[in-house]
Amino acid sequence: MKTVVIAGGGVGGVVAAKRLSERLKGKANIVLISDNEKYLFPPYFANVALGDMQPDEISLPLSRLEERGVKFVKAKIKSFDPDNRKVITDSGDVQYDYLLASLGSELDFETYNLASGYHNFTLEGSLKMRDALSSFGGGKVVISTPSPMYRCGIYPFEIANQLDVIFRKRGIRDKVSITLVHPFKNLIEPLGPEAVKITNEQFQKRGITYVGGKKPVKVDDSKKAVVMEGEEFPYDLLITVPPIKVPSPFVGTPFVKSTPMGDWTDANPLTGRSTKYDDVFLPGEHSMPVLGLPTAGVPVHFTSLASSSVISGEILGEPVDPGQINAMVCAMDYGDLGLVINCDMTQENGALKWIGSCYSVLTSPLGKYVKDMFYRSFLLTSM
Ligand SMILES: Cc1cc2nc3c(=O)[nH]c(=O)nc-3n(C[C@H](O)[C@H](O)[C@H](O)COP(=O)(O)OP(=O)(O)OC[C@H]3O[C@@H](n4cnc5c(N)ncnc54)[C@H](O)[C@@H]3O)c2cc1C
Repeated sequence: MKTVVIAGGGVGGVVAAKRLSERLKGKANIVLISDNEKYLFPPYFANVALGDMQPDEISLPLSRLEERGVKFVKAKIKSFDPDNRKVITDSGDVQYDYLLASLGSELDFETYNLASGYHNFTLEGSLKMRDALSSFGGGKVVISTPSPMYRCGIYPFEIANQLDVIFRKRGIRDKVSITLVHPFKNLIEPLGPEAVKITNEQFQKRGITYVGGKKPVKVDDSKKAVVMEGEEFPYDLLITVPPIKVPSPFVGTPFVKSTPMGDWTDANPLTGRSTKYDDVFLPGEHSMPVLGLPTAGVPVHFTSLASSSVISGEILGEPVDPGQINAMVCAMDYGDLGLVINCDMTQENGALKWIGSCYSVLTSPLGKYVKDMFYRSFLLTSM
């Protein structure tokens, strides 16, 4: 029997485990390796930080996949040896016939000295941010996004609006200023003119200052200021959006390609298949920059489904046509308002195109609940 190894127990890994087990249970060995016993759902980290959800509401035990016939191995992956079809972990090597890797991305707090700020990009970070927000009585809040390469493009725009709502609810909004410092000249630009217009209106209505397109220098924690080229933004509470980089197990492997956006794993946009190894699929966030897709869970989800379909089709001898993706939905929570933006996808010379074809499907207080229902049902049905 063939062995399919899934590296990573996050969005891409869990989506793959479910789809592969649906097609291959009893017909292939499916093994999932992760360094965490839990499947954590990162979009809900902000809800933990804002005090709306508890950590146990945003995670599921990966051992639950055993009911689907997927063997769970808790281990830290150190590297990959694709020539010998091995995953190298801290508890030994794991052999595969097919490898599907979805390891997210690594957070960089060093380049811009972001460690002194609060963030919700890990569960631990979210809990610290929750404590900092609950004891914050007023002052200057600065959200610093120094690089365009970060997890989830919409996040800084969401958190700015969400903070406005929680400070209003606590009756301290008049004592707080909120400033978002971001690399885009026009806020939320890639999602198209409707998203830009609505977001601009919300920032103006709520009195949130947007500083776009300035070159970042660093955070000066002794002065408590975000330093940009030619200007400084003093803060009382700093919220940071760390840049990302390719996960360390890929560094030095043939999977990595150098691009103007940094080093990322390379894959076929329609299938997530490695461009170098036919038995390797890389549908994780670490491939999205090369595929021209956002570093977000929605494209990881559909790429992982495509990879899983190809792997199971090849093992079963049933050919599949995985290039069926024609839309990418982006649900945004602005605290008391939600936006659902759809981006039509087209294929051009084997690449997926979406910039310039995004439009609003829904802008309403209901949109916030649409996002919540979307994520709750995603999490509840993920295994
Ligand atoms: C605050 C926040 C808000 C977000 N909001 C949205 C949103 O609204 N919409 C959206 O589409 N996306 C959103 N995202 C992005 C989305 O969560 C990610 O793009 C998605 O989780 C990436 O999937 P992945 O499987 O590549 O990585 P992950 O889901 O991060 O999973 C990686 C897995 O690999 C494991 N792992 C990593 N390294 C190793 C190792 N060396 N050894 C073993 N295991 C390892 C991890 O423990 C984890 O289980 C958000 C992210 C954050 C942080």
